[in-house]
Amino acid sequence: MLIQLTPSATAEDIHGIQILLDHLGQVNCLFESNHKKMIGLEKGLKDDQIKMILQLKGIEKIHALTTPYKLASIAFKKERTVIQARGVAIGGNKIVLIAGPCAIESKKQLSAITQKLRNTKTSIIRASAYKPRSSPYSFQGLNEEGLKIHKEVQKEHRMPIETEVTDIRDVAIVAEHVDIIRIGARNMQNFDLLKEVGKAKKPVILKRGLSATVEEWLLAAEYIMMHGNPEVILCERGIRTFETSMRNTLDLSSVALVKQLSHLPVIVDPSHAAGRKDIIPAISKAAIAAGADGLLIEVHHNPTAALCDGKQALLIEELASLSVDLEKIAIAIGRSL
Ligand code: PEP
Ligand code: MN
Repeated sequence: MLIQLTPSATAEDIHGIQILLDHLGQVNCLFESNHKKMIGLEKGLKDDQIKMILQLKGIEKIHALTTPYKLASIAFKKERTVIQARGVAIGGNKIVLIAGPCAIESKKQLSAITQKLRNTKTSIIRASAYKPRSSPYSFQGLNEEGLKIHKEVQKEHRMPIETEVTDIRDVAIVAEHVDIIRIGARNMQNFDLLKEVGKAKKPVILKRGLSATVEEWLLAAEYIMMHGNPEVILCERGIRTFETSMRNTLDLSSVALVKQLSHLPVIVDPSHAAGRKDIIPAISKAAIAAGADGLLIEVHHNPTAALCDGKQALLIEELASLSVDLEKIAIAIGRSL
C-alpha cells in the first residue's frame, strides 16, 4: 500500500494520518519522491481501514499495491520509464549499447577504445574507476584519477559515460563526473549506498546481486527511488549457481519477468555473466530477443594486456560485427538498435 498525499498536505495532516496508521498497527514510512509526498506501508489495509483513512485531510490517493516494492511496480506506474542520459534514451524503442573496458587503465587506453567505439552502434561508454576485486592483490582501479580521465575523454569524444560507485563517500564526486552511476552486483544490498545514490541527480544502473532474488533486486531499486531518484535502470548480470563452466548463470527469465513486474528499463551484462568471450554473442542476441532494453558489454583494444577481465573482453571489431546481428533481432521484434 502506498498513500499519496496532496501537495497541500500540512505537517499536521500528515501527523494525523500517521497517528491513525500507528493505531492500526501499520509500520509506515513518510518519504518524498519525484516531488510527491507519500507514506509507504509494509502491509495491506482492510477495506474498512481504507475508508477510515480516506476521511482524513491531506490524502490524494491510496494505491492498493500487493507487492513489497511499490514505486518500482508496474501497478504503480503503467507507462514504461524512459531515462535520458546526455541525449541518449534508455528504455525507449531503441535498444541501447553501452560498451567499454572493465577498468580505466590510463588516458591513452580509454581514448583509444572510445575512439574506436565511436564508429560502432555504441551510444554510452562504460569504464570503472573504482574496482571492487575478489582479490585484494588485483588491480584496484585508478579511483579519482580515473574519474578525471573518464570526464576528459567524454569531453573529447562527446559520448555519455557511466561508472561504478562503491563507497558512500564517493557518490557526490562520481555524480559530478559521469552521466550514469552504476551500483555493482556486490553492492546491490548496500542500503546506505542505495540511499545515497537515491539523493543523486543522475540515473543509476542497478546490477542484480550475485545471489539476489528478483524481489530483492526490485526492493533495492525501491530504496533508490524512495530516496528521491526515480531513474533506475535494472541490469541482469548473471547469478551464482552450481554451474562452474561460466562465471555466472545468465538469468534471462528474470529479464522477461521484471519487464512484466516493473516499468523500469532492464539491460543485460553478458560479459560478467559469461566470464568468457566465446558465448557473449549468443547470449547478447538472446537478451535482446528476451526484451532487454540494452546491453552492457566489456571491450578492449588489447584484451591480453587488460588489467582486469581481459578474458571476457570483446575486440571492438567483434562488437561491431555482433551489432549487425543484434540489429536484425531488434528489427524482428519491432525495435531498433
Ligand atoms: C562491472 O560491471 O565492472 C562489474 C564489476 O560487474 P558486477 O558488479 O556485475 O560484477
Ligand atoms: Mn569487469
